Amino acid sequence: MGGNTLGVLGSDVKVGLSDGTKIAYANLDYAASAPCLREVADVVGELLPYYASVHRGAGALSQLCTEKYELARESVTTFLGCRPDDEVVFTRNTTDALNLLAHVVPPDTAVITFEGEHHANLLPWSDVIRLPAPSSPEEAVSAVAKTLAVLGTWRPALLAVTGASNVTGEVWPLAELAAVARRSGARIAVDAAQLAPHRRIDVAALGLDYVAFSGHKLYAPFGTGVLAGRADWLDRARPYLAGGGATAHVGDAPGQVDWASGAARHEAGSPNVIGAVALAAACDALAAADLDALRSEEDTLTTRLHDGLAEIPAVRVLGDSGRWPDRLGIVSFTVDGVETRTVSTRLAAEFGIGVRDGLFCAHPFTRRLLEQAGATAPTAVRASIGIGTTKEHVDRLITGIRTIAGS
Ligand code: PMP
Repeated sequence: MGGNTLGVLGSDVKVGLSDGTKIAYANLDYAASAPCLREVADVVGELLPYYASVHRGAGALSQLCTEKYELARESVTTFLGCRPDDEVVFTRNTTDALNLLAHVVPPDTAVITFEGEHHANLLPWSDVIRLPAPSSPEEAVSAVAKTLAVLGTWRPALLAVTGASNVTGEVWPLAELAAVARRSGARIAVDAAQLAPHRRIDVAALGLDYVAFSGHKLYAPFGTGVLAGRADWLDRARPYLAGGGATAHVGDAPGQVDWASGAARHEAGSPNVIGAVALAAACDALAAADLDALRSEEDTLTTRLHDGLAEIPAVRVLGDSGRWPDRLGIVSFTVDGVETRTVSTRLAAEFGIGVRDGLFCAHPFTRRLLEQAGATAPTAVRASIGIGTTKEHVDRLITGIRTIAGS
């Protein structure tokens, strides 16, 4: 997509095809990892000569990097619209962030989640109620309301939901879910790995308690994620990792330790400064961009992608009930009579297209969707778009699938 001035690296990469020719790579795998924004690469390139350890160094470069690292938190705070007293903890990725949240959740908390979640939001919880995947946003809200009513208010509850599905692109009704949670005194955590790159998230306005996301899906490199939200649970829990940086004072005897408060408590070890700065640069670039324009371009391409695939007789699009109005540019599908791996391999070899195949780390959900679609294949193919995707990429995919399907 060409809206705004945002651009990604790699759009001129050429790949070899099986007939010996070369073609510009069509990356349609943004839901796995998005390419790096030019703005992010520039910021990282500028910082690399000043690379130095943060927090404990007295040298000028240590001080500079410490300042950049702390400024990166401020960028995340602004990007997410956090409350002033929210904590922003840098993690390795969304999986790490949600495991950190699971670690700090008070012991008697009931966690409510849905079958439609990515494994990162399905597996970390111990005391968990897993609701069936809803077929509409309204169903999601009423299922949560009913469950919270049954639970009552005698123990803490945490609703842990996705912002948008990595299998179907369905965007979840966060404001409504947060309102339902609030009425019952429950908290809400959002896995925003897919949502954050595509929609404005306003933690304070939506009434969210925690948000987790990953840099590598937000047009920054791998290795950094965020858990942002209420400080109290984070400050009360033992550090996620024990070690240097997470301490205020360590005595001579074993076990004599006062842990640090604030984000440092859960960031033991030398932090990924470059990763945090890169992620923050992506946040800054997206915060400054015209997201409405980006969204409208993305919606146009999403419709072209979805309809182009759905029109092919042998194609079954997953989760295609029409009851979920708002969707990101993610379409998962099967091709009757062709193995999923064959589809993705042929797309790469004959058309220079990168997609993903499998169950997308959402095994129960994707299996359910395959069953509902009447697919015989045990896995699916997923195409996903973002900044840098063009009509030509989408049309090439549709031509490729038509060829593979023999129609
Ligand atoms: N949640 C969702 C919705 C995702 O799509 C992903 C990545 N596929 C994750 C969580 C996990 O992200 P990460 O691998 O960066 O930890």
